[in-house]
Amino acid sequence: MTHTLPENFQPAADCLKGKNILITGAGDGIGRSAALAFAQHGATIVLLGKTVDKLEAVYDEIEAAGGPQPAIYPLHLNGAVMKDYEDLRDTLEKEFGALHGLLHNASILGERKTIAQTSIESWTEVMQVNVNSSFMLTKALLPVLDVPDTSSIIFTSSSVGRQGRAFWGAYAVSKFATEGLVQVLADELVNTSNIRVNSLNPGATNTAMRRSAYPGENPDTNPAPDALMPLYLYLMSDASRDKTGLQWNAQIK
Ligand code: NAP
Repeated sequence: MTHTLPENFQPAADCLKGKNILITGAGDGIGRSAALAFAQHGATIVLLGKTVDKLEAVYDEIEAAGGPQPAIYPLHLNGAVMKDYEDLRDTLEKEFGALHGLLHNASILGERKTIAQTSIESWTEVMQVNVNSSFMLTKALLPVLDVPDTSSIIFTSSSVGRQGRAFWGAYAVSKFATEGLVQVLADELVNTSNIRVNSLNPGATNTAMRRSAYPGENPDTNPAPDALMPLYLYLMSDASRDKTGLQWNAQIK
């Protein structure tokens, strides 16, 4: 069963005030929109990604809008190893003390081919960026996320991570793995911590990833990332404090 934003939800202007939130892939697409929306609602954002110019542009936008001063943490998820994630945790602990939110957003599409045609290199890279990095980042950050009040981890899924589809190859399989990680982690944490864990499927959204997956499609037929932000704000704010282990859809289609 999937869930959508409660009809009556209106994010309060300061619903994320005092919260420190890390976003992967914060320089572009949905991650960029989430960084701006979370900061606009009071959060201090750690912008993690691989292209520093893009992260700096988001940093500047947050500052220009009068949001809390963000931080930039450049990291290539392809090559990062556990020590890199532990270093990140130590830095966060030193600079912020605690983390109240983690949005696993960065992903790559890989090859749009049949399983038989998919190269080992592409399969391995997709699994590394979309699954292994989320596992390592989560494992490293759980201690700083276990705050006395409540914290939220959002994993980004996809329609093809809930129902398999031809030619979506490693990407689809990586999103099935993401759904599994959410279910196992949420079940482990539900009675032992204040951390909640949910899976969010943005649905077709006008970003570089969608345009590359569907080059023949008119990009304007899909919503811009900003249109999805109410669900992101709901799942990151205390309004969803009793929700864990659930599958969410940002769009009703
Ligand atoms: P996007 O526009 O391609 O943005 C992806 C972000 O992830 C970029 O900021 C990118 O950084 C970063 N990233 C990619 N590989 C990375 C790596 N190895 N290390 C660090 N950062 C990396 O994609 P999007 O459409 O916003 O997608 C966001 C999430 O939504 C993904 O999990 C995607 O699977 C999911 N999703 C999207 C759609 C859709 O229609 N757009 C639908 C369903 C699910 P650079 O810009 O520096 O490369």
